[in-house]
Amino acid sequence: MLTWIDVIKFTNNGNPAPDRRVEKSEEEWREILTPGQFQVARLKGTERAGTGEFCERHEPGLYGCVCCGTPLFDSRVKFESGTGWPSFTQPVKQNAIKYEKDTSYGMVRVEVMCNVCDAHQGHVFPDGPEPSGLRYCVNSASMQLLETERKEATLVLGGGCFWCTEAVFQRVKGVKSVVSGYAGGMIKNPTYREITTGRTGHAEVIKITYDKDQVGLADLLRIFFTTHDPTTLNRQGYDVGTQYRSVIFYQDEQEQAIAAQVMDEMAQYFDDPIVTELSQFMAFYEAEDYHKDYYNQNENAPYCTAIISPKIQKLKAQFTGLLKPEVER
Ligand SMILES: [Zn+2]
Repeated sequence: MLTWIDVIKFTNNGNPAPDRRVEKSEEEWREILTPGQFQVARLKGTERAGTGEFCERHEPGLYGCVCCGTPLFDSRVKFESGTGWPSFTQPVKQNAIKYEKDTSYGMVRVEVMCNVCDAHQGHVFPDGPEPSGLRYCVNSASMQLLETERKEATLVLGGGCFWCTEAVFQRVKGVKSVVSGYAGGMIKNPTYREITTGRTGHAEVIKITYDKDQVGLADLLRIFFTTHDPTTLNRQGYDVGTQYRSVIFYQDEQEQAIAAQVMDEMAQYFDDPIVTELSQFMAFYEAEDYHKDYYNQNENAPYCTAIISPKIQKLKAQFTGLLKPEVER
């Protein structure tokens, strides 16, 4: 952790070497920056207090240099300084920031810059919170919130009545949420009453949000094929109609390829051919509130005990290791 003594040392004796250097001409910087960003980052300007887009932001993430994208500050060390500028107690790395003495405006201050491309960020002061005691006072215009790698993915599936599929996937490890809804039809914002006619073309579907580190798409699809009947066209048991069709709405070519592969793999377990439809995902419309969490809220209802509970038993019997700990117990 850097303290004020380190800052003074770097300012007086020279800065640690950066991991890389990015150098561009003024013209080149002008091309990739907005006039406001250019003014602050390349001409050492200062945005007006309280006007920057990152003043009030506290969501997790990394702030990088607006010019070269080098990570400079982590949102976890961002604090409310009351100054009207984003404030941090530490840079992400010792060599991320370059320090220089700034005697402009009759003051002696320490300027902080991106060590990779020399973009002006702001200044650092010794009046920050413990333990570092540092306050990096930075312009929003000098920074960008960097995209962190997306670990969450979504999957939209139809396997008959969504009360059933929701109940199954709520129990799978790595599944963050399951939302019932409608997809694959001709009209926007359909209601349950409209889709049950079968005339809107929508299927009852669920949208699963899952953590890719904990469960893979192929395993989710294996569970899908095992817990509904993918061989009956437009029908699941007593539920008949196109709204009950078996369907996977893929969102890209990779999902499409994995879905086709798992479908092939699962074919051997069925006497009849799999008729699951593979369709390009277009839109998902959330179902009415009374469908939410249906099985958990109505476990003793006849439909639940007759149709859904056996599916849950099958899931538990065949997919140990892929279920949430409280379900496996
Ligand atoms: Zn930079």
